[in-house]
Amino acid sequence: MLEKFLEQIKLIIRLSTQKLQSLRQRLDAHALALSQSMNYRYAVCKKTWHTNSHFTFWLIPADGSHIAKTNVKKTHLKYAFSGVAAFLVVVSVTIGVLAHFAIQNENQKQELAEYKATKAAQERTIQELQKMAEKNQKQLAYLAQLEDKVRQEMAKSGTALPPKTDVAEFAGKGGPALGDSSPMGYMLEQEKNIDNVAKAKKADLENLLSAIESENYRREVTPSQWPTAGGEITSYFGGRSNPFGGYDYTWHSGIDIANYYGAPVYAAASGYVQQSGRYAGNARNILISQDKGLTTAYAHMSSLAVSAGAYVKKGQIIGYVGSSGYSTGPHLHFEVLKNGKHTNPLSYI
Ligand SMILES: [Zn+2]
Repeated sequence: MLEKFLEQIKLIIRLSTQKLQSLRQRLDAHALALSQSMNYRYAVCKKTWHTNSHFTFWLIPADGSHIAKTNVKKTHLKYAFSGVAAFLVVVSVTIGVLAHFAIQNENQKQELAEYKATKAAQERTIQELQKMAEKNQKQLAYLAQLEDKVRQEMAKSGTALPPKTDVAEFAGKGGPALGDSSPMGYMLEQEKNIDNVAKAKKADLENLLSAIESENYRREVTPSQWPTAGGEITSYFGGRSNPFGGYDYTWHSGIDIANYYGAPVYAAASGYVQQSGRYAGNARNILISQDKGLTTAYAHMSSLAVSAGAYVKKGQIIGYVGSSGYSTGPHLHFEVLKNGKHTNPLSYI
């Protein structure tokens, strides 16, 4: 049963194979015939083209009633073909060029839009910078006003003032080209001006600060502090009568300030304690050496509060009023020496 079935299958396969082979052979033959026919027609056309100088075109409607025909010279046909070819070339080139320009135009439009956007953003930035520059200029002007006020106050208190810095000192370096009237050029010029003014103000303020510092130092070392708590001047600097009787005049090297016994004695100026101890005549003395060639001396004290070598600040307690040494009652003998020479203490206080 199975064998019979297999036989049938084999038979079917064989028949199918034979059919396919015959079909393939027919197709091959057909293709060959077609190819030969094409070659033949091409050869005929070629030959016809070369051997004829004129060609006839026929126009035959479907019912065959009318026949229109025209004779054309081969050269004319050649011209026509060339013309059509040339026309096609021109048309395609034109289309290409137009397409190219269209794309370019589109790109340019896009670029222009981008450029406009960028320019608008830049203009906004410039406007903001402009506002800032104006604000900075106002602030600098205010700083200049403040500086003038500081100068006025300093002048009132007798401080030696440094000269104002000339803004032109900082100008003239670089700068935009002449005639650059663009907003950017104007801004650049403005910014440079602000920079110059700011530099000048910085220099001025630094000079003022150093003037104030040196003035403060001068005041610190100038013996202008009254050396006791109150008291009364009983003897002035210079010539006076001898307190121990007699009619001769003795020169007085300082001033005497009468005060109660134990009243505090203050340093008239800051400086280093040069001497502190008992000395003949004046007894219980203190000598303070200030800067700028100044020295102050305090004598007849009941006790001393600082030792030699110590630095004392102006107004600091250095001892107490007494009556030690040659003295007629509790008082402070106070001297100021400038470069070693006795001067009138009242010219400092
Ligand atoms: Zn005296």
